[in-house]
Amino acid sequence: MEAVKSYRIPVDAPKDLIEEYFKVKQKALDIIFSHVKFSGKAHLKFNREDRRKLRDELLRGWKYSKHYIDSAINSVIGLVKSWITLYNGGKAESKLEITKRTVYIKNTLFSFRNGFLKISIEPSKRYLEVDLSKYSWIPKDFDKIGGLLMTEKELIVTVKKNVEPRADKWASFDVNLTNVTAFIDGEVRRYDLRRLYHVHRVYEVKIRRIQKLSKINPLTSKKLLEKYSRREKNRAKDFMHKLTTQIAKELKKKNCGAILENLKDIKRRILNGSKDMNRKLSKWNARTFQFMLEYKLKWLNLPVKYVNPKNSSKVCPLCSGSMASYGGRIMKCGKCGLTMDRDVIAVLNLQMRGEGFPQRALNEIIEREELSRNKINDPPCIPT
Ligand SMILES: [Zn+2]
Repeated sequence: MEAVKSYRIPVDAPKDLIEEYFKVKQKALDIIFSHVKFSGKAHLKFNREDRRKLRDELLRGWKYSKHYIDSAINSVIGLVKSWITLYNGGKAESKLEITKRTVYIKNTLFSFRNGFLKISIEPSKRYLEVDLSKYSWIPKDFDKIGGLLMTEKELIVTVKKNVEPRADKWASFDVNLTNVTAFIDGEVRRYDLRRLYHVHRVYEVKIRRIQKLSKINPLTSKKLLEKYSRREKNRAKDFMHKLTTQIAKELKKKNCGAILENLKDIKRRILNGSKDMNRKLSKWNARTFQFMLEYKLKWLNLPVKYVNPKNSSKVCPLCSGSMASYGGRIMKCGKCGLTMDRDVIAVLNLQMRGEGFPQRALNEIIEREELSRNKINDPPCIPT
């Protein structure tokens, strides 16, 4: 199995190459697109001979490494093919255009030695050298570097490693709007997401204010909106990165795999005060948390499995009776009377569905976590 991690590194990229590559892609698009046939279902008729001709044409006057032309052609063919799929499904919104000034650099165009990436720009003449060892957060234990993506300001480096994930134990995670509830090595933990929620709310207010401005000054307002939503995304992602890195480290110490809810299996359970915005944020939390934790664990040789979360907070983990709301986030079993926080119930059920655990352990946890009406504890905050 291959584990993958990607990093953005600031670089001073050769602007001339980026511009020329962009032009070549536009030219390639015109030509390749003229090979799309619209008889019956749209399809691309572009054979090896067509490709050779296009390649020769694009190479005329091209002073940079030839592989860039091949990568441009491949990338445009990929774009056209996905456009065709959309088109045939009636979902192609507009005409196909090249908008991004991104250069794909395949592994024949660079070498990596002693921490240095050496990217060929013009054959045996001009190179872009990047010292990866400067970036301490890029792991050193990778097997190879995948293709690179270059924009004017940054290089996206993907590192790969072969892994065979295995675990001695399993932990479960239930992600909500304001917390992640975890069951790790026999203990229930809560990681507070209220700060993240706050980040989202602050930007929501700002964005509303800007939207009001849009009637007076649409252009400025559009730019501001882009800036703020980018900032919000970055701050929110940053928060999730810190949290998932911390959890991954902890799981590594205990050689613990992770059980997560399969979000595809269900419509998300009804949320407290289920406003659309909260629903969206809750979904974002769950997806981002799972995505980040999964690739970080994989890199550490730890497995992840997904279980069906259907009714995970409504079934009694003790007797399988059905649980009903008992005020706020508290649920009570109609059969055995177990009273518990719904997030704890969810995470115990996930654990049982994913791995199962002995009744004795379950009893211990329930003893610790069971609530009476006057014993409701505050979630602890994440240490920062
Ligand atoms: Zn019960």
